[in-house]
Amino acid sequence: MAHQWRGVIREYAERLPVTEATKVITLGEGGTPLVHAQKLSELTGSEVYLKVEGMNPTGSFKDRGMTMAMTAAVEAGAKAVVCASTGNTSASAAAYATAAGLKCAVLVPEGKISMGKLSQAIAHGATLLQVDGNFDNCLDIARKLGEAYPVFLVNSVNPARIQGQKTGAFEVVDSLGDAPDIHVLPVGNAGNITAYWKGYKEYSAPFETANGTLPAVSTKTPVMWGFQAAGAAPFVAGHPITEPDTIATAIRIGNPASWETAVAARDESGGLIEAVTDDEILAAHRWLSAKEGVFVEPGSAAGVAGLIKKHAAGEVPSGKTIVITVTGHGLKDPQWALRTEDGSDVQPVKVPNDVVTVAAELGLEEN
Ligand SMILES: *Cc1c(COP(=O)(O)O)cnc(C)c1O
Repeated sequence: MAHQWRGVIREYAERLPVTEATKVITLGEGGTPLVHAQKLSELTGSEVYLKVEGMNPTGSFKDRGMTMAMTAAVEAGAKAVVCASTGNTSASAAAYATAAGLKCAVLVPEGKISMGKLSQAIAHGATLLQVDGNFDNCLDIARKLGEAYPVFLVNSVNPARIQGQKTGAFEVVDSLGDAPDIHVLPVGNAGNITAYWKGYKEYSAPFETANGTLPAVSTKTPVMWGFQAAGAAPFVAGHPITEPDTIATAIRIGNPASWETAVAARDESGGLIEAVTDDEILAAHRWLSAKEGVFVEPGSAAGVAGLIKKHAAGEVPSGKTIVITVTGHGLKDPQWALRTEDGSDVQPVKVPNDVVTVAAELGLEEN
């Protein structure tokens, strides 16, 4: 029978805080591909899969949480929403606010927001303010607006966001038939590692719903491996970083909102949160594009950078199943692909309008 994916709320309604009366705001998010990563599997001797979250409607996993947050905003009678963003949250909030018929205000930090993300927020009609400060300052203002003014906060400090994002873990288990042994992902504000761990835990035990108890879907939970950018690695330092710095703007966050829950995900799962340098992130970014055929934005490559680094240190087991969430699409921040390893920009080779010269340039001989 024909079945079209209906977005994460309708697909997983019984495991989310919605009822049949809920007016669902969706753009059809979720149902993203779990791609077998051939070269990473060869490298590690484990079966490595990529959960390609760039395939969501606005190009990042943020849509999973935004469908829930915007649905909750409408249910609460909100007329306007606000968020702080390194870029993808604003792109997602702006799109889902449009679908919900709500006004949307986004606060982005000074400098260092990718063109792709900014253009999405503008295209969807959000009011965009660039705050003279970093992401953490933006989130502080957004929270205060949510408390003292008639606007609904849709950052991941809103528990509805985490609820929606946990569906990423459900989809992984539904695809593989069980939880992986290790789940790897980038860590910024730490909402996603919190959400995946919540999802894996809920799927591994009986789950109480309004209509009765659902049986466990998986037999186990994975070990959670989170990776931060070295210049923005508060979990590694053990304290907030005042001036976070990395080319991976999506994870340039010094004071993660979901601090305790991320530490719990790490410790309860027997996992780790470590750091990778910008060079390691860019090398992983190139690996994904050139060896796996998957184009991501730099921040999304932090998990892959972490896996490659751990492998080099002899710390990745073989014979296991490993899933890496690659969080956002490469077209968000495409200029990194045009940069060569020595830092210059790639230029296309110019050729005349002539088949013989083109063939010669391609190293082809006539047959
Ligand atoms: C938001 C984001 C992250 C970081 O996720 P957190 O939940 O903040 O840890 C990583 N990559 C991309 C592309 C993002 O948009």
